[in-house]
This record gives sequence, C-alpha cells and structure tokens, in this order.
Amino acid sequence: MSIPYGRQSISSEDIEAVVEALTSEYLTTGPEVEKFETAISEIAQTNYSVAVSSGTAALHCAYFAADLQPGDEVITTPLTFVATAAMASMFGATIKFADVQADTGNIDPESVKSLITSKTKVIAGVDYAGHPVDIDELKEIAGNAGALFLQDAAHSIGSTYKGRPVGKDADLTAYSFFPTKNLTTGEGGAISSQNPALAQRAKQFRMHGLVRDPERMRAPNVGAWHQEVHHFGLNYRLPDVLCALGSSQLRRIQDFKSARTKIFDRYTAGLRELEWITLPKKRDYVDPMWHLYPIRVASEMRRALFYYLRSNGVTVQVNYIPAYWHPVYEDLGYKKGLSPIAESYYLGELSLPMFAELSVHDQEKVIDLISNFPRK
Ligand SMILES: *Cc1c(COP(=O)(O)O)cnc(C)c1O
Repeated sequence: MSIPYGRQSISSEDIEAVVEALTSEYLTTGPEVEKFETAISEIAQTNYSVAVSSGTAALHCAYFAADLQPGDEVITTPLTFVATAAMASMFGATIKFADVQADTGNIDPESVKSLITSKTKVIAGVDYAGHPVDIDELKEIAGNAGALFLQDAAHSIGSTYKGRPVGKDADLTAYSFFPTKNLTTGEGGAISSQNPALAQRAKQFRMHGLVRDPERMRAPNVGAWHQEVHHFGLNYRLPDVLCALGSSQLRRIQDFKSARTKIFDRYTAGLRELEWITLPKKRDYVDPMWHLYPIRVASEMRRALFYYLRSNGVTVQVNYIPAYWHPVYEDLGYKKGLSPIAESYYLGELSLPMFAELSVHDQEKVIDLISNFPRK
C-alpha cells in the first residue's frame, strides 16, 4: 500500500463522539454546532466562530462578510488552492496577485503594498504549509488602506505567531477541516472574527441570509413564525454529527501538533545533507503546526522525482499551481510571469507525506528513497 501525502487520524473517542451525536435529537442545527464554534474560538483566542460545510464555504462567507462588490479589489497570493481567489472572483471582485517570499512561500507584504489602490477591499494571505504570514505587517497595510485582512488558515489552525494563535489577529480567519488538513470533520470549515458585525454577516450567509432576530427585522411584529431574508445566502451549515467530530478532534490538537513537529524535524534531519534540495524555512517568531513538508528541487528535476516517488509507493503532491495559471484566470487576461517568485516556487515544489499517524518506518522509507534518487 502506498504512503499517502496526508490523511486523517480518527480515534475511538472521535468515533464515540460521532455515535453520540448520531443518536441524539439533532443531526443538524443542534447544540453540537455551538460547542464546536466555542472550541474553535478558544483555540484561536477569538470572540466569534462560525462552523460551515467546507473551507471554500468559509472563504465565500468571509468575502460576503467583507461586503465584497463587483469592481472591488482583493490582493492575494497565487501560491494557494484556487478557492482563496475564486471565492472573491465569484462576487465580481478583481484579483490582484501579489508575489511571495522565496523562503516561506507566503505573501510578501512589500508586494502587497505596491498593489494597493483606492479600490482595495480585502488583503487575503494564506499561511502556506502552516507557517503564519507576516500578520503585523499585513494588518497595518490593510488598516492604512481601509481594507480588511483575511487570513486563509486552511493549513494553520494550531500555529502561533509571536506567541499569538492564528485566528486572534485577522479581521476574518478561514479554516478548512478537509481530511488532509490539521484536523478534520470529513468536509468542513469555519470562519472566526473578533468583530461581531463581520461574524454576524458570515453566519447569515451560511443560512440563506435569514434574519430571525426581531430587533433586526423590517416587520418585527408579525408573529413568532416570521423570518426575513435580507440578502441572498446559501446553506453552508455543518451538521451536528460533524461538529461533534470536530470538537473531539480539537481536543487532540496538541497531540497532532507535536506529531507533526516530530515529522518535520525528522525530515529536516534526514534530508539536510542533500545539497540539491531546499528544505522549508521557519521564521524565528512563529511556531507552526506544519500541514505540509514542502521541499524544492531544480525545476528540471521535479517531474522525475515526483514520478520516482510515486512509482515507489510514496504519494507526493505539488502545492500549488499558481492560481492565475488556471484557465479560468487565463481567460480573464492573467498572464504567466505575473508573480515570478511564486511561479519558480511552484516549478520546483514537492510536498512529502505529512500527517499525524505517519510512522517512523514509512518516513524513513521516504527519506531513503529521496537520498537514493538517481539524479541525471
Ligand atoms: C484546502 C484549502 C482550501 C479549501 O478548503 P476545502 O475545505 O477543501 O473547501 C482553501 N484554501 C487553502 C489554502 C486550502 O489548502
């Protein structure tokens, strides 16, 4: 059986939590939702969290909360899963792709600064591989521009920046709980914020745009059955069954983090002598919960190494195709060469297997295979 690049860790406690929710009164919209949201807020040291059905839904809700309108501009990184940009494009916003830092792969605040205009509404960073972006710089740039700072933390729940947990600082933070991520609900995601108005807008978008609080209704005195739609929304709810799994997984987050840290350190120790590989770098003011172990090789070598590892039972991945290389952005007029550092990062990148239950034996197999890669 081949070694996957990421996979979930499900304990007997996780299973019990799901079974309990399954046999309770509520399968969805019940008490487990709020419990999970409270647990996320505790980890992120934030006031409000809203559980949703995927990381993509979280981004969609976050951009809605930011009141993104056609013609508004969003500055983001191309070195991300396309949803970070795509969910903003769905509101008719114009995406300005900044470049990244060569060491971390994270959005470069200097590049962001050069793209600010009077139309900039959101600056969206991605904590690539789990390494937090330069939060202080990005917050300041966004504040000066009258824009919001959105942190796509799909990789980084559990990471800290200058001692502060991811989720505490950004105007809006989006998480994903897909099975390969740091913790999972099968499918799922969340938004968190310190700002009650932003959180409320995200929450309303999750549920059809419905308003049920009489104080906010246009016609508050109709009767107890009355509810109002004030804007169009979706059904992005995360069921109780999955929220129960999420709460149980969150109780294990420190174990996940230490397992991922050990794997990170073991790769670094095992590969550091190979001068043809660039290993991931960490800034000294962050403590990442590593989601990926991204190595980089010469672009001419990447393809051969990818197929060599895959044919030897090691499922490596490439993260990420620059977002604007996707035909949907090409058709909007984006051209190759826009963010050269991100493009060169992509062309040499390979993500090695990284997940809490990766065994020492399997990890050593990966290290040995790479060490014996027949380079031409
Ligand atoms: C996984 C991911 C998403 C999307 O999350 P889903 O839960 O798969 O919808 C968004 N952004 C980044 C950076 C991701 O890695």
